[in-house]
Amino acid sequence: MDRSGAAADALARLVLDVPDFPEPGIVFKDITPLLGDPAGFAAVVDALAAAGRDADGTVVVDKVVGMEARGFIFAAPVAIALGVGFVPVRKAGKLPRETYAVSYELEYGEATLELHRDGVAPGERVLLVDDVLATGGTVAATRDLVAACGGETVGVAVLMELSFLPGRETAGDIPITALAVI
Ligand code: AMP
Repeated sequence: MDRSGAAADALARLVLDVPDFPEPGIVFKDITPLLGDPAGFAAVVDALAAAGRDADGTVVVDKVVGMEARGFIFAAPVAIALGVGFVPVRKAGKLPRETYAVSYELEYGEATLELHRDGVAPGERVLLVDDVLATGGTVAATRDLVAACGGETVGVAVLMELSFLPGRETAGDIPITALAVI
């Protein structure tokens, strides 16, 4: 099986749908069985990392940014696979030094994400990694944070894209790699 086939197979077998979690009407994508399966976990990390390479296999990004919390689990091994640094985007109040902050609308209320001001250097090319692309608000806010540092988001890689939500439109004009579209 090739790289994308192995990843698609792992996602189909090892991500569980949990209806009405964390609230009625949401079908939560539970990735914990995937994380517990070393071959499946490795297959999806390998497929996500391909988003940081060109057609010849050359690494074309300087940093991988992961969004709290499940994004960290995938972004960190993707950064190691690409041989570049990992940078966390965190919820408000968690990063200890000077940050940029962006607030955005959730279905109910508002959220704020932060990035250390020196997390991305001016001119650096960044790949964003998360587990699920839903409304796209998290990706859009993270793009703004990378831009505030002077960096450029050149791609987004997610395990799953929920195609019944406008994630792609909200994320903006950027290449999005989704290992599965639901
Ligand atoms: P959004 O900003 O709406 O694109 O939401 C993306 C974030 O919410 C991701 O970091 C996901 O971890 C989480 N998320 C949204 N919908 C789901 C879902 N159905 N199952 C699991 N996680 C989700």
